[in-house]
Amino acid sequence: MIIDSHEHVMLPVETQIEKLNQAGVDKAILFPSAPHPERTIGLDGLKAEMAALYKVLAGENSKEANKQRLINNLIEQKDHIKKYPDRFLGFGAVPLGLSKEETKEWIFQYVIQSDFKGVGEFTPGSDEQIRQLQVIFEAVSDYENFPLWIHTFNPVTMSGIKLLMELCEQFPNVPVIFGHIGCTLW
Ligand SMILES: [Zn+2]
Repeated sequence: MIIDSHEHVMLPVETQIEKLNQAGVDKAILFPSAPHPERTIGLDGLKAEMAALYKVLAGENSKEANKQRLINNLIEQKDHIKKYPDRFLGFGAVPLGLSKEETKEWIFQYVIQSDFKGVGEFTPGSDEQIRQLQVIFEAVSDYENFPLWIHTFNPVTMSGIKLLMELCEQFPNVPVIFGHIGCTLW
C-alpha cells in the first residue's frame, strides 16, 4: 500500500481523490489547510488567498480569530475525511499559546473526538513559538503513540531545530515528525 504522508485539504474533495488515483496513492495523511489557492480564479484571487496565509504565518491574526479559523479548517477537514474514510487519515491542528488545560481540552474535543491520528501541522515562526510547543508535548504525552507533525524548514531556523530536539529528549514517549526533514538546514 502506498501512503502519502503529508497532504493538505484540497477542494473539492473529488479533485483530491482524482489526484491520488492518478498518482497510484492508496491513502493520504490529511492536514487542514488555511488557504485554498486551488479554488481561486485569476492572479488577483490567488494573491488574496495567499496573503491570508502570510498573515497567519506572520502571526498577525488575533488569538480568537486564529482559533476560529482553525475550528473552521478542522470542520472542513473532518467533512473531507467523512466522504472518503478509506482514503484519508487526519492530523488535527492545535493553536499555540493556550494554557495546558485549554490545550488538553482542545486536543480532546477537536482531535481525539474526530478520530484524528496525530497533531499538526505546526509552523513555528520563531524560536519563541518552538518553546510554546512544550505545552503541546505535555498534552499529548498522556496518549500512547500520538505523533506531532512539525514543519522544520523556513521560517524555522537551525536554532529552532535544536530547541525542538531538546523537547524530543524531554518527552521521549512523544513521536515527532520533522516535516520536510529540516530541508536545507541539514
Ligand atoms: Zn504542510
